[in-house]
Amino acid sequence: MNSSPFPVVLFSKLFMEVIDGNEIAAQIISELKVEVNSFSQERPTVLFIRVGEDPASVSYVRKKQNTAKKIGITSQLLVLPDSITQEDLLDAISKANADQEIHGILVQAPLPAHIDERKVFNHVNPTKDVDGFNATNLGKLCQEMEEGFTSCTPAGILEILKRKKIVTEGKHVVVLGRSLIVGKPAGMLLLRKGIPGNATVTFCHSRTPDLAKFTQKADIIIVAIGKPQFLTADMVSTGTTIIDVGINRLADSAKKSGFRLVGDVDYDKVAPLCSAITPVPGGVGPMTVAMLMSNTVKAFKLSLETSYS
Ligand code: NDP
Repeated sequence: MNSSPFPVVLFSKLFMEVIDGNEIAAQIISELKVEVNSFSQERPTVLFIRVGEDPASVSYVRKKQNTAKKIGITSQLLVLPDSITQEDLLDAISKANADQEIHGILVQAPLPAHIDERKVFNHVNPTKDVDGFNATNLGKLCQEMEEGFTSCTPAGILEILKRKKIVTEGKHVVVLGRSLIVGKPAGMLLLRKGIPGNATVTFCHSRTPDLAKFTQKADIIIVAIGKPQFLTADMVSTGTTIIDVGINRLADSAKKSGFRLVGDVDYDKVAPLCSAITPVPGGVGPMTVAMLMSNTVKAFKLSLETSYS
């Protein structure tokens, strides 16, 4: 893009923005709190279903429940043994689907290997699918139907771009990763007609040869592959906006926990080249939880509309 990188690097160093996901998430949470307080009596209620005692899942669900509490959303937790059969798990979801007092249902992934995650996600009533993993909601996303639920991480990415006024129209967005929960929906959101959106989107994955050929031509790169510090400075042009979704643990004896979290981007070397970048931690992660809360409030409002119609 630029043959003499020095002045551009200097320029972008001066104007590079580290996007504070915690700050944006806090804004969303306080907006939701005001909205929830305005509801006359009933409160939105979300049910978390956790299978087993995987420490990461325990911690994620706890974090989500704490955030719900701050907003005034009621949360319930159903913990099931990791020996549970698929049939029994589907039965538990059916009960929650039928319970009028539960507005949102989230089945915490990953699930044990003997459970078919896709079947489980598709069993959640689409009007309670606050995670947005259900095939109906993914279809609604493709049809650009506003009433559907968008999975929380891609919704969080879109909200970052919107609130930071990062122009996507006419831009080239390269998405690294094509998972159903991050890569695909993130790309679909940016492809849709609207703002943010109207971008030209390229999806890359593990079978894409010469990734740098695509990333070097991107205006915006969304990286969601789960490989620590994968996107290196030689793959990025100056002035690019980078959204780093990856959450990876790197061993670090200086930390009490024995590890530190890093993203999919080689942050220290790539950040100076960017016009804006999300850090890890503190970028996309907090947005995911905030958008889950937003989806729960949306599910509650949807339940009110359907009960009065
Ligand atoms: P998946 O494992 O489901 O998907 C990874 C994707 O990356 C796949 O499409 C895979 O390609 C692609 N990929 C893997 N290796 C390469 C490579 N060398 N070059 C190009 N593409 C590659 O992961 P998720 O989408 O669920 O998550 C991605 C990352 O985001 C993880 O670190 C996860 O922890 C994090 N995450 C963070 C969240 C947050 O709140 N911040 C929420 C959700 C996830 P292929 O399809 O060909 O296998």
